[in-house]
Amino acid sequence: MKRKLSTAKCTLITAFLLLLLLTAACGAPAAAPPASPPAEQPADAEPAGDSGEPDGPSALPEKLIVATNAEFPPFEFITEQGGGALGEYDGVDIMLVQALAAELGLEVEISNMDFDAIIPAIVSGKANIGIAGMTVTEERLTNVDFSVPYWVAVQSIIVPSGSDIAGVDDLQGKKVGIITGFTGDIALSAIGGIDLQHYKKGVDAVMDLNNGRIDAVVIDSPTAHKLIAGFADLSAIDDDPAFELESYAICVAKGNEEFVAKINEALQKLIDDGAIEAFAAEVDARL
Ligand code: GLN
Repeated sequence: MKRKLSTAKCTLITAFLLLLLLTAACGAPAAAPPASPPAEQPADAEPAGDSGEPDGPSALPEKLIVATNAEFPPFEFITEQGGGALGEYDGVDIMLVQALAAELGLEVEISNMDFDAIIPAIVSGKANIGIAGMTVTEERLTNVDFSVPYWVAVQSIIVPSGSDIAGVDDLQGKKVGIITGFTGDIALSAIGGIDLQHYKKGVDAVMDLNNGRIDAVVIDSPTAHKLIAGFADLSAIDDDPAFELESYAICVAKGNEEFVAKINEALQKLIDDGAIEAFAAEVDARL
């Protein structure tokens, strides 16, 4: 079932072209650092240790324990019928961490949790890296460090056919589903005057929209298009200028510059050789 845009090609072709135009309607691999938001990138930082000290205990953990929230297709989701990239887990981010771990010579262990538990898991050391289509924000940067960005997206407004909502301005007084703690929640909370309905999973918000319980859902563009596939009466508005471009990156505990530098080196290689784009195409074909 298709509405405004072809779901299958959304993240890969349309969005990549849009990224080139810097309007990124659907989301795209971050070929170059996007215009916003700013991230303090230690990619070129000198090794963290004093030069007198050999590499220390090691910048790398023994195993890569990855905190994620597998409710965010096409980046991370649980496959019902098996055949995921890593056991039951599949998605662009899952393939990305596998490739990253291979570059770093580490094993991967996925730790699936609520989205708002990811940063606490990183801060407390329960996981080594967090990846979940996570946007770099000023506030998150106060708690964790981020890798170089690997994807660019924007918020989409999902509406039912016949809706009088054509953009953010029309959301005033409307019941709008957002996922708690996501950047869509942050953006709409800042606007005010919108009756925000909080959900833990995008799929639940979209079900309620389809059943007429709410008027719209605001969520990241690539995920919006995956979630509405199969709902003939839902479509996504991707081009509202009220929403800024968002950069996805991997988060790690603060202060381990050497670890971030190693992640950045491996990640940049995956970006440069087109691997992330290829993962997106593979996942698209499986979804
Ligand atoms: N990019 C959004 C954020 O960082 C949503 C992430 C997600 O749902 N996994 O808040």
